[in-house]
Amino acid sequence: MGSYSRTCETTKEAAVIDPSFVNPTEFKALKDFLEKKNANLTHVLLTHGHPDHVMGVGEMMNTWPEASLHLHPMEDENYRRSREMGFEFGLRLPDTPLPTPTHELQEGGVVRIGDNIELSVVHTPGHSPGHVSFIDRRSFEEPTKDGNNNNTNNHNKHLGVMISGDLLFQGSVGRTDFHNSSLDDLYASIRRLYDVFDDKSIVLSGHTTPTYLEKERLSNPFVDMALRRPQEWYDEVKERHGWL
Ligand SMILES: [Zn+2]
Ligand SMILES: [Zn+2]
Repeated sequence: MGSYSRTCETTKEAAVIDPSFVNPTEFKALKDFLEKKNANLTHVLLTHGHPDHVMGVGEMMNTWPEASLHLHPMEDENYRRSREMGFEFGLRLPDTPLPTPTHELQEGGVVRIGDNIELSVVHTPGHSPGHVSFIDRRSFEEPTKDGNNNNTNNHNKHLGVMISGDLLFQGSVGRTDFHNSSLDDLYASIRRLYDVFDDKSIVLSGHTTPTYLEKERLSNPFVDMALRRPQEWYDEVKERHGWL
């Protein structure tokens, strides 16, 4: 399971996304990593509330009590049930209740970490109702300005690194067999990524090695299905969710 961290090199403020370590050694590795960077953890961000993505939240918030904790409100049920769900996943979450989120993530929101990091929040439901992806748009500013982004067909699309949780994996997509999952929404969320983001955008997923949109478009059968669905269907889902 992938946890990701980003640190602002100016202010040394750091964010951790989906703290999912399963044992004390993993937590120590993260702590040592932040200490080595002289970083102070200020944000814990969650793509969704499933146990394999939140099991380290309690320890994070105990260690850095000043940090803010961010989750989409539609993940409330999954987050509250994550300990119970953990048993189904074969994961044992700490006995103590998980800390209550301090901030609600919303479609179109931006989380700022220090001076240099801006993560855009994109609502990407399907695997779970309030699932979000985080897009680090500044990460690609330089290459774009230098003209290294020579994909001229996509010049009006954003190029970025996205942290996609359980939406899109290398060669696969997130499960949709949970009671609050929706395959329709999952396909629409994937389609939306291709609408908004350049093909060269990098995808850091919750469970597989990194990939990029173009590669998945050419090789991932689920992406192929999502992109081939009729436009009217996609328009309807977009409207239902209030996506632009
Ligand atoms: Zn999940
Ligand atoms: Zn997962």
